[in-house]
Amino acid sequence: MKYVVFLADGMADEPLPELSNKTPLMVAHTPHLDRLARNGRCGTLLTLPGGFPTSSDVANLSVLGYNLASCYTGRGPFEAISQGIKLGSHDVAFRCNLITAKDGVLDEYSGGHISSEEACELIQALNEKFGTSKIRFHPGISYRNILILSGEEFSDQLEYHKPDSSHGMAIHSILLAPKEPHAKATAELLNQMTLDSEDLLSSHPVNKKRVSEGKKPANMIWLWSPGKKPELEAFHRKYGRHGAIISAVDVIFGIGIAAGMKIIKVPGATGYIDTNYEGKADAALKALQRVDFVYVHVEAIDEVSHLGKLDLKLQAIKDFDRRVLGHFLERCPPGVTVAVLPDHPVPLKLRKHTRTPVPFAIYKPGTTPDMVAEFNEYSCHEGSFGELKGDGFMKALFRTA
Ligand SMILES: [Zn+2]
Repeated sequence: MKYVVFLADGMADEPLPELSNKTPLMVAHTPHLDRLARNGRCGTLLTLPGGFPTSSDVANLSVLGYNLASCYTGRGPFEAISQGIKLGSHDVAFRCNLITAKDGVLDEYSGGHISSEEACELIQALNEKFGTSKIRFHPGISYRNILILSGEEFSDQLEYHKPDSSHGMAIHSILLAPKEPHAKATAELLNQMTLDSEDLLSSHPVNKKRVSEGKKPANMIWLWSPGKKPELEAFHRKYGRHGAIISAVDVIFGIGIAAGMKIIKVPGATGYIDTNYEGKADAALKALQRVDFVYVHVEAIDEVSHLGKLDLKLQAIKDFDRRVLGHFLERCPPGVTVAVLPDHPVPLKLRKHTRTPVPFAIYKPGTTPDMVAEFNEYSCHEGSFGELKGDGFMKALFRTA
């Protein structure tokens, strides 16, 4: 038996008055999601348990059945690993967003979805100004970049604010704060650097050009989710099967690399609604010839949910259904178990992740379906798997009957 999990980042939502109190998933035309629910078995999964950040890395580790308490140190290190950065035992890796600051407020978490090329130029300028043998910025994809601090004097014990959950907040009120005395110097150093980055980046030609074109400038760094090197049990040792991950997002690749899975990059996969949806489905079909388990992560729905755009979310859900899932199912060889789920909700009215358990469907050839006829937040709750947590989803997936 081979297995494919389609992960639609941020797809779950809440009822909206403008949709007659239905969710986007209930309203969008999703024949393929519904077919999986109808022919398979459904349930819900708690992916963001209390005590952990409400972020996608936590949620995807949960879906993959990893014990968060023993393996989660922060998001920064997973993204660093995905970029091939070797983390030493005294290194602390941070996610470094390029954000838009405006009038002392965090205006937008992605610097207007700055391009990778533009971001790379800004990261270079940051290294010229702030870089040392112990402080190094690394360019990633678009606004998602990395800062590594190397040395025993640095701490990862910092309270931080996630930029996509902090829109409209005064920057001075959401800077890094030490969780222990040893972390005070690290917090002070990085907070000063954050504030100083605004002058440097605002006057950079990349941002001057963006502003002249009516785009948001990426005029400040935002450091968050620091951590040291994580230790994950290898996926094939944990489950006795070899796995591959398809994504466009560094942190998801980082999880895959840390878990010893095969990493598959798809040309034209952007992490946004212009992504190469069919390419991801094709890559999954191809990967199935070589591994037993393929994890296909699609970021686009999460991004438009954070923007609060209902029309784009409906379109992104339809595109995921038809161009990823439908495209795959039309070409899928027999004998493949197919599962689908979001990693967490991003309700449009909140524009941030919530801990509400997510709906899932598992279609396994030859098993009797339950009574669920549609894929959405409410119908799957009635499914035969009930409410799962921990590694419950992976156990349900690999269950033989
Ligand atoms: Zn997510």
